[in-house]
Amino acid sequence: MDSNELNSPGFDIPPEIKGQIAITSLDRIYNWGRSASVWPLMFGLACCAIEMICTAASRFDLARFGMEIMRPSPRQSDLMIVSGTVTKKMMPTIVRLYNQMPEPKYVLAMGACASGGGPFKEGYNVVSGVDRFIPVDVYVPGCPPTPQALLNGLMKVQEKIRGESIKNSRWYKKGSDLAEIPIPILGPDLIDPRKLDLIKNEAKLQEQA
Ligand code: SF4
Repeated sequence: MDSNELNSPGFDIPPEIKGQIAITSLDRIYNWGRSASVWPLMFGLACCAIEMICTAASRFDLARFGMEIMRPSPRQSDLMIVSGTVTKKMMPTIVRLYNQMPEPKYVLAMGACASGGGPFKEGYNVVSGVDRFIPVDVYVPGCPPTPQALLNGLMKVQEKIRGESIKNSRWYKKGSDLAEIPIPILGPDLIDPRKLDLIKNEAKLQEQA
């Protein structure tokens, strides 16, 4: 089969529109539109956020990727960039924001802290990775990652979006796994530093038992 046959739509195209129309798949155009207009949720948690802010400024310019419209509301965002140290006190708020974002939504863990606790791993007040509570699509290593590294991570998010199919998308399926993530509670799910004495005493009692 020669290339002309391969590219043929299987019916005659009137000569007046030849060379003026493009034929593509629904998936391709749907994903192209989504990947070229990702709106990140605007919030930062620690030093990594400064690099994220640099990435949005003129030198690196997120507008080249269609991502310059950072939204201050989860209701209008489809990408959560977790940029910085996630404290136990902050985690319930992050989960709540994630739940409030509409599908399809994506999460990028920026830097060592968001990915696994970073230099504060096992610290009394820090979560050892945001993926313990919400699903992460792309991890960007570094402490902090450079703007170039973040841009690479954002391009990975775009690659992921372009590889999805409207047919298998979870957000159009009835009864799929779109249930809200339970908000972690300080105490049962996360340690409340105000109850440290109580926790220590209970740990001691368990040791002695
Ligand atoms: S990964 Fe490093 S630069 Fe980023 S928030 Fe943690 S300590 Fe700061």
